[in-house]
Amino acid sequence: MVFGWLSGTNCARIYNEALSSPHAHILNYKTAFSAIYRDTRHFTPEDWTVTRFIRKEDTMNGFFLYSLLLDKAEHGGILVLPHDEASQRDRLQPALAERNSAMEGTGQECYAHACDFCFHIIENEYGQLMKLQAAGCDGNTIEHRSCKVHDCKNPLPNLRHYFCEDHGHFRLKCAVVDCSAEHTVGHRTCDRTDHRALETAYFTRRNAMFQLRSRLKKAGVAVPDNSVSGSDDGAQDEEVVFDMRPGGPVELDADECEGKPDTGNRRMRAIFGGRWTHNEQLIMRPCGVILSRATLFGSEAVSAVNLFAKATFPTPESTPELFIFDNTVDTCTEATDPDTVAP
Ligand SMILES: [Zn+2]
Ligand SMILES: [Zn+2]
Ligand SMILES: [Zn+2]
Ligand SMILES: [Zn+2]
Repeated sequence: MVFGWLSGTNCARIYNEALSSPHAHILNYKTAFSAIYRDTRHFTPEDWTVTRFIRKEDTMNGFFLYSLLLDKAEHGGILVLPHDEASQRDRLQPALAERNSAMEGTGQECYAHACDFCFHIIENEYGQLMKLQAAGCDGNTIEHRSCKVHDCKNPLPNLRHYFCEDHGHFRLKCAVVDCSAEHTVGHRTCDRTDHRALETAYFTRRNAMFQLRSRLKKAGVAVPDNSVSGSDDGAQDEEVVFDMRPGGPVELDADECEGKPDTGNRRMRAIFGGRWTHNEQLIMRPCGVILSRATLFGSEAVSAVNLFAKATFPTPESTPELFIFDNTVDTCTEATDPDTVAP
């Protein structure tokens, strides 16, 4: 999983195919064992009361459990998990949440790092030695599914769900953001004609793209797959914006959504797929060493980044003299303590 960048499903597949059999050495070397190969295939000893196949949940649970044990061992702690939870997933959840929140503050392994690239000592005009440290904050794109309720941080029961357990009752809501009516059976929108028109426009466009993609593939053109989304129903964007033109709603591309509508038409927003967390935010030193990591939900709001930075630098001494934050619209460099910044 770590080295191959594999999903839990693919790890399980590799294990089941290549390693799960007690006669894996025979099955994996057909040429050498051709005499007994056929009889060995699909062989599971009779006294085995459990399956030899693992599921994707098993891979994920194993990965998380092992990672938690390693983490505790590194910090000299003991992993304590409840015994009576409904599932392994529920058992691990609090320990995982605890570790994740430690990573938002000072828990990262190399938190105390300093090197010649990222830590300078300068002499001020009074002859005192001053430190000059910098840190940058930026998002990367390891997005994952989150509850469709904006800024909700609860985990999803599984990837097929769009809402967390607390917000499960929203499951039946119309996909149009400002509509609180329930969607009709077999649709994602309520029975208002303008809402249904959005759904038709959305899926017509998705189908057209899907067909174009498969035609290009057939013609031998390399097309990037959106296969990481975990969604198989074609609905994977988060919010889409429609321009309500006289001829019917037209879906706008992300770069057309900003700013005022120049057509004067009404705009409507809808979410047909699941919502994705905005991104994982990292605070790092200019030399590339990562200090902390946090998941930002909803939007990369400056206030959320501010909280994250405060958790990472809880004391005046730990606060960097230069903090670089790229909010993707403009980059600004702010001195957290102007007195100590070199020109
Ligand atoms: Zn460094
Ligand atoms: Zn929720
Ligand atoms: Zn509606
Ligand atoms: Zn700025």
